[in-house]
Amino acid sequence: MLDTRELGRRPGSQHQVTRTVPAPADLGIEVLRVPEGSPVELDLRLEAVMEGVLVTGSASVELVGECARCLEPITDATEVDFQELFVYEDQRNPSEEDDEVSTLAGDLVDLEPLLRDAVVLALPFQPLCEDDCPGLCPECGARLKDDPDHAHEAAIDPRWAGLTGLQQDLHDHD
Ligand SMILES: [Zn+2]
Ligand SMILES: [Zn+2]
Repeated sequence: MLDTRELGRRPGSQHQVTRTVPAPADLGIEVLRVPEGSPVELDLRLEAVMEGVLVTGSASVELVGECARCLEPITDATEVDFQELFVYEDQRNPSEEDDEVSTLAGDLVDLEPLLRDAVVLALPFQPLCEDDCPGLCPECGARLKDDPDHAHEAAIDPRWAGLTGLQQDLHDHD
């Protein structure tokens, strides 16, 4: 929660806020998330406009997760940007059923929904330990990064590959 009282509802007045807050629970996505309680560094500009307070800023967060290819733990950090207009409660149009509008609670801004949206949008759905992670061996599941020359004796001789396919075909018709 951020207090906007200093702005005094004077359009044009601005206030810079730098603050570190503990990360809320369940911030991020399944494969990559911000550890609960880890420091979130907020760098914000609050700006009073006619109908409310415009919040523009960035948040630096720590990330933990697993590589989508080899499942190795990942630790990373990222910075997300956001901007949102928080409307004064008494400026809301009561005839409009508009849940999309963020509203000030008294003089307070609740940044958490904003932070959640910004973080989730910024995260890759398939995080990788490194861009060219070779993943796991399809035969035995070994991590190919640890063992790049990894090979299997029983690899199918290409000359027989066609025959194997044929056998598979026959099997399918059983
Ligand atoms: Zn990996
Ligand atoms: Zn293998």
